[in-house]
Amino acid sequence: MTFVNSELFPITSDVNENGRLVLGGCDVGDLVSQYGTALLVFDENTLRGICREFVHEFTSRYTNTKVVYASKAYINPALAKIVHEEGLGLDVVSGGELAVAYAAGVDSSFVYFHGNNKAHRELEMALDGSIGRVVIDSFHELAMLDRIAGDRRMVQEVMIRVSPGIDPHTHVKTTTGILDSKFGFSIETGHAASAIRRAIAAPNLDLIGIHFHLGSPIFELEPYDTAINTVMDFLVAFKEEGLNLREFSPGGGFAIGYVRDEPPPPIASYARVITDALKRCTSNLGFGEPTLVIEPGRAIVGRAGVALYTVGAIKDIPTIRKYVSLDGGMGDNIRPALYDSRYEAVLANRMGEVPEETVTLVGKYCESGDYLIKDIELPVLETGDIIAIPSSGAYAPSMASNYNLNPRPAVVMVKDGNARLIRRRETFEDMMLSDVL
Ligand SMILES: *Cc1c(COP(=O)(O)O)cnc(C)c1O
Repeated sequence: MTFVNSELFPITSDVNENGRLVLGGCDVGDLVSQYGTALLVFDENTLRGICREFVHEFTSRYTNTKVVYASKAYINPALAKIVHEEGLGLDVVSGGELAVAYAAGVDSSFVYFHGNNKAHRELEMALDGSIGRVVIDSFHELAMLDRIAGDRRMVQEVMIRVSPGIDPHTHVKTTTGILDSKFGFSIETGHAASAIRRAIAAPNLDLIGIHFHLGSPIFELEPYDTAINTVMDFLVAFKEEGLNLREFSPGGGFAIGYVRDEPPPPIASYARVITDALKRCTSNLGFGEPTLVIEPGRAIVGRAGVALYTVGAIKDIPTIRKYVSLDGGMGDNIRPALYDSRYEAVLANRMGEVPEETVTLVGKYCESGDYLIKDIELPVLETGDIIAIPSSGAYAPSMASNYNLNPRPAVVMVKDGNARLIRRRETFEDMMLSDVL
């Protein structure tokens, strides 16, 4: 089981002399004794290292790049503080995520507000907090935001989200930039052109740039190249109409490794393709040098997070299937149920043992669709064993729920042999906090 040294695990991952997985210098057995399971462990060195890699790979090729973390992948105040310390801005898609950005002291001018149906009060909250950019996604929003900015006698800097009609070949539920999508103004239908004209004409809006986001996770490079060319070609006509392209954003969607047989392109390859396409287009089409805004979410936090579970009940149906139940599941990671996502797992307290049988790792939720990994080869498991699932940092904790009224897991940050809680385990009282008798 040497793939702890692979790109699926945090960079600090190791196995100690007791055969136990070590993350950030901490023996997972000790973490489990102290914090219980299910537990999500973030490795700070991996998180900071990946933030730096994004900044370096893009700015070394295109100096004028801003890296903005798409916080819907997972955010809380401690994480926001770390990514902001590494020089990243924040993408938010709700008043709640905006509140975390404000609470963590993130520079509000470096916050981008996305979403296809922002509420009036969310836009007011954004403008009252001097948010940097609102990325407009509908005619309804465009008119509403113009009025809200006008009421405040201010001019809000905005971007328009266009939909370039390009399929990045990801799961249908995570594809966003095609014609049949709720996101963005379609170029094909003429809506994108109308939106740009209306934004230029709106007295209280300053259209500073154009945004698109294709979907996620995108394992191919060429959709970015095609989309940048398509959108830039489309934008040329608007130069004469007053479009001053100061920012250009091809969104996020950068893949990470979940399973060994599907490795993602390196960050450097995404950076090369995107910056090459942008440089080619801007110089051919006379667009000057807009700021490039990239929005990685999954790729920032995914690899840094490892989920730990304890084995409970084991049910063997001879010749059919062996079900191994863990003390987590769809309440802390709904991705397998929602997207058929695949993961790897290791027996974290006996790392030296070789796989001997095929089992299905399921959760404790009352749904037959509540599984974490179907048909994985593992050593013979016993009740009390610790299972570690790598690449669990993105879109698992952020989509966590209290289904069956199970408390959501604790989250710890590990570094140099120390662990600190960044979110305590929920209590039963927490879950009744909003209820009224
Ligand atoms: C979700 C989202 C992202 C981030 O996607 P990842 O796959 O996590 O990188 C970036 N931009 C927008 C507008 C998004 O909605």
